[in-house]
Amino acid sequence: MANFYKLAIPQDRTERLQYIKRMFPQAAGSMLSDEWRGGRREALKRLNTIDTEAYNRNRNFLNGAVSHLSPYFRHGCLTLKEAADSVRSRFGDQSQKFVQELAWRDYWRRVWYELGDGILSDIEDPKVKLGDKLLPDFIRQGITGLPCMDGVIRDLKHEGYVHNHARMWFAAYVVHWLKVDWREAADWFESYLLDGDKASNHLSWQWVASSFSAKPYYFNKENLARYSGEKHCASCKVNCPFDNSYEMLFEKLFGDIPPETAKVRSETILERVPFSSKRAIAIYVHDEMLSSAHPLMHKPIPKIFVFDIKVYGKWPLKRLQFVADCLSELMDVEVWIGNTAEVLQERNVGQVITQDTPNKQIKNLLEPFNTNWQPEVKFVEAEISEKRLKRFSRYWDKAGTELFGDIASSES
Ligand SMILES: Cc1cc2nc3c(=O)[nH]c(=O)nc-3n(C[C@H](O)[C@H](O)[C@H](O)COP(=O)(O)OP(=O)(O)OC[C@H]3O[C@@H](n4cnc5c(N)ncnc54)[C@H](O)[C@@H]3O)c2cc1C
Repeated sequence: MANFYKLAIPQDRTERLQYIKRMFPQAAGSMLSDEWRGGRREALKRLNTIDTEAYNRNRNFLNGAVSHLSPYFRHGCLTLKEAADSVRSRFGDQSQKFVQELAWRDYWRRVWYELGDGILSDIEDPKVKLGDKLLPDFIRQGITGLPCMDGVIRDLKHEGYVHNHARMWFAAYVVHWLKVDWREAADWFESYLLDGDKASNHLSWQWVASSFSAKPYYFNKENLARYSGEKHCASCKVNCPFDNSYEMLFEKLFGDIPPETAKVRSETILERVPFSSKRAIAIYVHDEMLSSAHPLMHKPIPKIFVFDIKVYGKWPLKRLQFVADCLSELMDVEVWIGNTAEVLQERNVGQVITQDTPNKQIKNLLEPFNTNWQPEVKFVEAEISEKRLKRFSRYWDKAGTELFGDIASSES
């Protein structure tokens, strides 16, 4: 019996969410809320309501005017270039800070293209000693005893979204206070995110850890209380591990122990699917190109998306539902569940056209096929050398200049 079949994604949203729940009985977690409806239409709505003046003022506060666009960029509903063009035309130079944040995503992605799976382990020698503890159960269960960190874990699990500042606090707590191996923590964290992305996630963890930055990121209670609006601190009764000056915390967390020697990068062993039939051509739609405006969507060629267990087997329910929302807007895309090679074989496909990606999981699925990898829409046209990819500030000197002319300063 074939272990793949075609799905009929319902147009009605309530039915759609229930349908995905039935089709993926193994998927963990709660249903996707209305607030996080997937798809390009919703992405454009969010883009059009960005207020860059408020963003410049308060983006670092948990209740600041951030865009909540990351899951939409992650799944290709909107490109970074579209977003940058839109805010630059509406707000001119006042959009610089927002565009610079978009640039972080582009930067991490370029590093992913450059280093491949090398981003999954230490890129540089860490600048402080890092720990190698396993992720404790109290983190997995969200019972750290610290209301602020429990709050982050609650948002992560219930919403699939955490504000950037809270992600930084949490990563620093896990890596520097608890001395957990950042790689295990990063994998766990990503598995709950609606915007889960290898580059933005793993490289941010490395940035916090100091294996891809000049120094470790850490914070104190004053910083957390200020940017969270005392949300957790006001009624907190615990002996706060963050309540100290930066100098004292540095001493406490890192002492004067010399940096650990670089760890050996682990090589991932790639699975291959043998298949050699070369008949029809199809567009393979993957999870980074779910937009009706994508150039490949306009070609009169069959378009196929496969929920392949190798990639989506561990995704939480709400993220699968988010993807289904996106797919429901792509009227002529066939949606299948099963093994990619088997589905393409069933559809007589030998040659595939798709958007390029640094994601090896996707590349491996298409390994047996003659694949035409089309370049992504570029965020900036400028060539960014390998040397500039070593630090965001060097990358931004070049990218920012293309976007805003001679920019006075670069923040990184
Ligand atoms: C430990 C950690 C893990 C992270 N994991 C992910 C992840 O898996 N996927 C992901 O998309 N982002 C990740 N980020 C980056 C960032 O936290 C989110 O992109 C941001 O919080 C999304 O919220 P927003 O769309 O409201 O952001 P806004 O502030 O409105 O920014 C607009 C867009 O700019 C991009 N952006 C902003 N800040 C960053 C950043 N620091 N790094 C990369 N892109 C950025 C995002 O695409 C975002 O949607 C992580 C950050 C940290 C510290």
